[in-house]
Amino acid sequence: MSNKKSIEYIIAPPPPHVVGDGFRVHSFFPGAKLIDKKRMSPFFLMDYGAKIEFAPSDEPRGVGVHPHAGFETVTIAYHGKIAHHDSAGNSGIIGEGDVQWMTAGAGLLHKEYHEKEFSKTGGPFQMVQLWVNLPSQYKKTKPKYQEITNSMMGRHYLNDEESFIEVIAGEYNGTKGPASTFTPMHVYNTKLRKGASTILNFPAHYNTGMLIVEGNAMINDQAALKDHFVLLKNDGEEITIEATEDAVILVLSGEPINEPIAAYGPFLMNTWPEVEQAIQDVNMGKFGVLED
Ligand code: MN
Repeated sequence: MSNKKSIEYIIAPPPPHVVGDGFRVHSFFPGAKLIDKKRMSPFFLMDYGAKIEFAPSDEPRGVGVHPHAGFETVTIAYHGKIAHHDSAGNSGIIGEGDVQWMTAGAGLLHKEYHEKEFSKTGGPFQMVQLWVNLPSQYKKTKPKYQEITNSMMGRHYLNDEESFIEVIAGEYNGTKGPASTFTPMHVYNTKLRKGASTILNFPAHYNTGMLIVEGNAMINDQAALKDHFVLLKNDGEEITIEATEDAVILVLSGEPINEPIAAYGPFLMNTWPEVEQAIQDVNMGKFGVLED
């Protein structure tokens, strides 16, 4: 019997929408094809900013002050740079190839913008933002950041010595990623030269999907095109990836969090009273203050 994970859907990018004035994103989930809010749990949301060219601008484009609570935002910059500021006085820059793993937990206010210099020169911009759910015992954890630069990531080279798996979280064949997570998960960028192939292995019950960020690939013998999302079924362990062009593929696989979800705007809780409480906390200034 085959131990392959079969493909449930290959999803074309949904029509984009603009978050603030700087992030033109395709929301792959939760959404039309993945209407079940737990289908990719622990990953709750994926916004994909497919590659576009931004004209130079003196005013950095972005999204103004907004809260988050009950989960983590993971921002992956493929092209361009993103700056952020929060209500606890933290700020930073997510450079090209870098990842920011922000635990909102108990709650914070922040804003996200194109980095100043990038904004001035303009250029290609491509990013992903994931929302990673937290289990109930960690929903109120203190906010924190993991600034994961590209050089910190685990790298597992394939036989051609040019293709590699860049491990952000979890592990690939013993190569570990630097991100600390609250539940078990694997997050990789597989960067393959044309013709290179690799086999990934995840437990059958882990929810697994992949985004084709660059190039084209065969995923278990089905062609997946650039900017498409491949959702795997929970029926096997093995996935074969073969690059039919130089390809970058974001791979997500994690143990589902089997808890109720109450999701409203930037809050991701277990119950509606918890959502109401979070809204009240924001209004009472308990998430702090941040100037626009
Ligand atoms: Mn945000």
